[in-house]
Amino acid sequence: MKAIVSHDIDHLTVSEHYLKDLIVPKYFVRSYIELFSGKISVSELLNRHSDVFKNQWQHIEALHQFNAQHNVPTTYFIGVNNGVGLSYPQEKAALWIQKMLQMGCDVGVHGIEFENFEKINAEYTLFNTISKQQNFGTRMHYIRTNNQTFTNMAKAGYLFDSSEMNFKAPYKIGAMWEFPFQIMDGYIIEKPKQWQSKNFVQSCEETKKIIDKVADLKLPYLGIDFHDRYFSDAHKTWKDWYIWLIEYLISQKIEFVNFKQAIKELES
Ligand SMILES: [Zn+2]
Repeated sequence: MKAIVSHDIDHLTVSEHYLKDLIVPKYFVRSYIELFSGKISVSELLNRHSDVFKNQWQHIEALHQFNAQHNVPTTYFIGVNNGVGLSYPQEKAALWIQKMLQMGCDVGVHGIEFENFEKINAEYTLFNTISKQQNFGTRMHYIRTNNQTFTNMAKAGYLFDSSEMNFKAPYKIGAMWEFPFQIMDGYIIEKPKQWQSKNFVQSCEETKKIIDKVADLKLPYLGIDFHDRYFSDAHKTWKDWYIWLIEYLISQKIEFVNFKQAIKELES
């Protein structure tokens, strides 16, 4: 078993949400619930206020630095359309795409359009134009799909997708590889609630069970989705959990590859 790490970029700044959606007020309601239920500390809450003051909700570079130090190749999924609380403008996404490609990361689409071929295809073409890349993959924001989404993605020309959360090996739909993934930060730390429901130790225990299950099923790849937004002291449990996860996998001698390296292995 090898591990594939990827990151969804849901936010760049705080101000991109003003007048567009209710993400910011909802975030503070959630934060105070977490404070009063003892899941986060006062300093964590103060860091959340300070992130708003700094107008920074992405932590792409800090996360990249950590990954690079640990030899973890990563794929970032970034949006070129707006919807369901993803509100940053296309020009800002374009700047980050260039920056991340220069940093040596793989970059794909954090998809908004999942309902029909025309829209999926238009989003594919838009990313192709903005990023000047020919081969790239996607993951849907909130992993939204219907029973035609994967076929339509393949038809549009995506090299791979990783929107299915499941204990399955990668499989092909037309020429596209689907990489089911098993670990997502929010599902571990928040579920079954909409705010932090587990502490650090409980989150690690839950994660170990998933890793063991992937090993028992002899799946070739363990898929991990971590949002760069949480690589911050404002989300201490999340950040500590991600650092623990990478160090734990290294201690278990698990090798890291990105999706494109995995496709090469699967097709060789
Ligand atoms: Zn997302």
